[in-house]
Amino acid sequence: IDAARAEAQRAYELDRRHVFHSWSAQRQLDPMTISAAQGCCVWDGAGHRLLDFSSQLVNTNIGHQHPKVVAAVQEQAAKLCTVAPQHVNAARSEAARLVAERTPGELDRIFFTNGGADAVEHAVRMARLHTGRTKVLARYRSYHGGTDLAVNLTGDPRRWPNDRGAAGVVHFHGPFRYRSQFHAESEAQECERALEHLEQTILLEGSDTIAAIILESIPGTAGIMVPPPGYLAGVRALCDRFGIVYIADEVMSGFGRTGRWFAIEHAAAPAGSSAVSESASSAGEFRAVVPDLLTFAKGVNSGYVPLGGVAIAPHIAATFDDRVYPGGLTYSGHPLATAAAVATITAMAEERIVENAARIGEQVLGPGLHALAERHRCIGEVRGLGVFWALELVRDRQTREPLVPSGGTVLRELDTACRSAGLLLAVNANRLHIVPPCTISEAEAKEGLAILDDALTLADAHTA
Ligand code: PLP
Repeated sequence: IDAARAEAQRAYELDRRHVFHSWSAQRQLDPMTISAAQGCCVWDGAGHRLLDFSSQLVNTNIGHQHPKVVAAVQEQAAKLCTVAPQHVNAARSEAARLVAERTPGELDRIFFTNGGADAVEHAVRMARLHTGRTKVLARYRSYHGGTDLAVNLTGDPRRWPNDRGAAGVVHFHGPFRYRSQFHAESEAQECERALEHLEQTILLEGSDTIAAIILESIPGTAGIMVPPPGYLAGVRALCDRFGIVYIADEVMSGFGRTGRWFAIEHAAAPAGSSAVSESASSAGEFRAVVPDLLTFAKGVNSGYVPLGGVAIAPHIAATFDDRVYPGGLTYSGHPLATAAAVATITAMAEERIVENAARIGEQVLGPGLHALAERHRCIGEVRGLGVFWALELVRDRQTREPLVPSGGTVLRELDTACRSAGLLLAVNANRLHIVPPCTISEAEAKEGLAILDDALTLADAHTA
């Protein structure tokens, strides 16, 4: 144990001296060391166990150190560590098949990237080349990645210091009933008015100048706002009407997080509605909302080895049948990453892990978080599904004034209290994101909720 602590201490010291961290003022950091992880738990440098309700960066959907995924990476490493992207590789071919089998509709051509941001970059590039147009519409309250274009598409404060007025990016408001831009009094009204606003934005920008609309099927980092029924189908219909490419960003919401393989599956529209695409869903009288391009990363292999990608509809893929696609990556479909994806997707299917996420959401996390809202006046709203939940913390339930506009000491205190009691969660602005692995058990979910219950009392003291 002493040796492990000494190793953790040395790692910390070297980190502080040499490692430059993301999204941070370097001197103000005091990062936590993680020295081990298993399933839904991690251990810090001092050997304390924490339940991981953050799934790291909402990516360890299958939990930590899943033995089948670890074995697949080890076997692939022993067999063939790397190949150039132009060569065929068995792990990549099989991963593409498994992803294509799960993406909605006919999205069955897969371009692999290193992560989510470059998946977004390539999806936009494909849309621009396919349409011959430049503009891209993205919503406020969104996150699309840290590279230049992806961060400019992003609709949250992380864009501001990076904003170069990227060519052709236009932001619009999406539906978010709790903080409605549309003065809506019902979900249906919010949906209708958000679609009218999007239609107006398209018309005023010039519909034939717009290459794509990019939308997280459920915005994640920006607050886990499940869109009202009909919204995504309405976006699909607008894209069809104006010849705009619909890019669904499922980097965070994909691969089981919401209790389905992809969050867009929750948006199936009734048959006969004009707001639907051609392909029918397995639900019979309901039709799937099928985007033209779908970006994924994170949960595709739970981040055991970096991987992302774009699933491409046939009509977009056909654009590049006889025309060169002008883009690529040395590690596109890297054997270690795609072997991890094959093992992850296979284990998730065999062990019914997506179904587990749906059940835990419906039976434990949903009811448990709503019960917390009854006891704690700092909770303004509980929203989410599957293992994808946000608590919106407010100073005053009537005015909905955020508990802290962004960051701030109350949220830090709450985070620290949870950590010392053995719970790691994601804090974002005035929200707590409860995003454990899809493999979480009922007992673990209840253990986390109990810790949260105690910690929220701290925040209640700061309400009006
Ligand atoms: N898109 C969405 C919806 C995301 O949540 C993220 C990351 O959180 C990204 C894109 C960027 O992914 P990456 O960090 O792998 O580049």
